[in-house]
This record gives sequence, structure tokens and C-alpha cells, in this order.
Amino acid sequence: MNSSSAPPLAPRTLAFQAEERNVFFHILTACNLACRHCYINPAQHGRATLPEATVAKWLALFTRPDRRANLILLGGEPTLHPGLPAIVKTARALGYQSVTVDTNGYLHHDFLSRITPEEAVLSFSLDGPSAEVNDPLRGPGVFAVCTAGLARAVTAGFEVSVIYTVSAANIEHLHRMPALLKSLGVQHFFIQVIGLRGHSAETGRAPLQVGHRQWLDTVPQVAREAARLGLHVIYPKVFLDPDEPFLCAGQAAENFFIFPNGRVYRCPLCEDYPLHALQIEAGRLTPRPGLTEQGLFTLSIPEGCVMNQLLQPGGIEYLPDGRPRHRISCCLLKQELNPPQPNPSHAA
Ligand code: SF4
Ligand code: SF4
Repeated sequence: MNSSSAPPLAPRTLAFQAEERNVFFHILTACNLACRHCYINPAQHGRATLPEATVAKWLALFTRPDRRANLILLGGEPTLHPGLPAIVKTARALGYQSVTVDTNGYLHHDFLSRITPEEAVLSFSLDGPSAEVNDPLRGPGVFAVCTAGLARAVTAGFEVSVIYTVSAANIEHLHRMPALLKSLGVQHFFIQVIGLRGHSAETGRAPLQVGHRQWLDTVPQVAREAARLGLHVIYPKVFLDPDEPFLCAGQAAENFFIFPNGRVYRCPLCEDYPLHALQIEAGRLTPRPGLTEQGLFTLSIPEGCVMNQLLQPGGIEYLPDGRPRHRISCCLLKQELNPPQPNPSHAA
């Protein structure tokens, strides 16, 4: 069957899993790059590099025998941490079922040769299909270094994903990514939407946010093409369908975003503010009193996500009767596309 006669691939919305924990652990905030849309905010999260022993203690705070736990190690650039390979091994020993390292591709401290493909998945950030698109956003020479690091990881047998942060600066080039990723041997394609955090939220910079029409006209089609080429694709829902229920992950899921100064958030959109629900102090994870993000999760507004509405109140279009034209989903709600399975009826 050729692709033109195949039924169109339909994405599946990934429901929040209450019985599963996702632990996003920023083990340092330092980075060798200075990307235009970086969301790291040292004024809120400090400049510390956590000692290996502290990381091990904090990792243990988030495991529970009755929960599957997935760990995503982040920075800054996590491979700048000389203890990263040992941290990956510690996480495995503590029972984390999956460990992913999000990297800008520089793979410092000979990282690749110090872990095995069984221990971690590697996720590379690329924001363009060529140096001409990627490097103005991430820095001169970054495309070449990142794709070379990625190729080495594939050759070494690692499971590899690519994260592409879609913004007004690169959305028109997204359609060139599936063929590139296929040629590089990447298995997973994570399409992200530009955040309302860090540099991209600063006033005075050219707006990077992508509108409703442009998102829907571009992202689902590119995701389908990537899946057709054999890639597993995840992309954010962003705009809820009229009959789709709104759910806040702060209530319906167990996600933890840990920073080196001990702040632990449940919602990534809150990370620029001292609204964290939890704090690690003296080695203990403690709920914070007073006004925290937790108080926002139960609020119900016609626009959907409360934090999105607070951060960009002018970003939603309204119908003449005052209702929002589209509700905004939780930023953690994702859609998934898997490569098409061969149809047995077409077997020889
Ligand atoms: S690689 Fe990541 S942490 Fe480093 S500047 Fe770029 S976005 Fe920020
Ligand atoms: S992004 Fe919005 S809906 Fe999702 S956890 Fe944060 S406040 Fe809740």
C-alpha cells in the first residue's frame, strides 16, 4: 500500500497517568550555550551545581514502591555535571524505570563512553533542520556539533530523540525535520511549543509565540509525515477540541520539576515565580504554606489553563458572545502518533 492510499494517521491524546510519576530534575543551571528562548532562570533557581551525593538523596525523595517513576535529567546542560554518569546509575539503582538525559548535544566529560544504552535515553535539542535555522536560535556552530553528537549516540546504540521547540522563528522549517531525523536514525520526535518562561517571556524581545491557525495548519501535518517515515511523535495538544474536557496536570498527574535551589514545582508555567508547591529543605520534601501554584490548579475558567491566561491575557481570541474561541489545554497534555503498522491483508 502506498502512502496516498493509506488511511490518515490519527493522533491519540495521552491521558494523564495518576499512578505514574515524572520527575524533571535540573541538576544545575549552568550551560555552555545561550539560546534565544532558554527558559532557565537563575534569578529564581540559583546557579548551583548540585553535588552528586545531594542529587542521590533528592532522587530518593521522589520514588514510591507503588508508582512507576520516569526521570528526566536536565540543566542548564546536564552533561556539564562531571557526576552525570554516576547519577544515571544511581537513579537506576533507586528504581527509576526510565532515565532520559536532555542535552544540547555537546556531551561534555566524554559522557557517551561512560554510560550504556541500557541505562539512559538521550534527547537532543535541535531547533532547525539546518545551521541557517538552528544556529541563530541556539548559537554559531551548534547545529554541526549537535547532529555530530547525535550521530555518535546512534552509532553507539543509544535510543535517541530530538526535541524541536516550535516558535515564530522556526515553524516554517518544521516540515523539513522528519526527513532529517529519519536520515540520522532518530527514533522519537518531540515537538514542543515555545514557552511563556525565561527569555521568551521577556518584554522587548521579538514575540516568538505561534498563533492558533499556524499551529494547527503546520504541526499535526508534520507529525503525521514523521510517523509515516517511521518515527514515534509526541506533540502538545495546546488547543482543546470543543467536546474535550479540560484537566490540569497539577490535579490529575504527578509531575515534579526540581531545581538546584530546592524549589519543586508541579506546573512548569509557574517556574518564573516563587509559587512552587514544595521545597526541599534539610533533605526533606515539604509542602509550602501560603499562596502557591497549588491554589491555582482548582480554579475553573472558560479559557482553560489559568496560568496561560495569567501569563498572556491577550493571547486568546473571543467570539462575539464573549466565549473564548478556543480553550487552552494544560501545557503537559500531549498527543502521540506511532508509525503505521503493516496491514496483514496486504502481505504477500
Ligand atoms: S542548551 Fe538549554 S539550558 Fe542551555 S542555553 Fe540552550 S535552552 Fe538554555
Ligand atoms: S499548565 Fe495550566 S493546566 Fe497545566 S499544570 Fe499548569 S496551571 Fe495546571
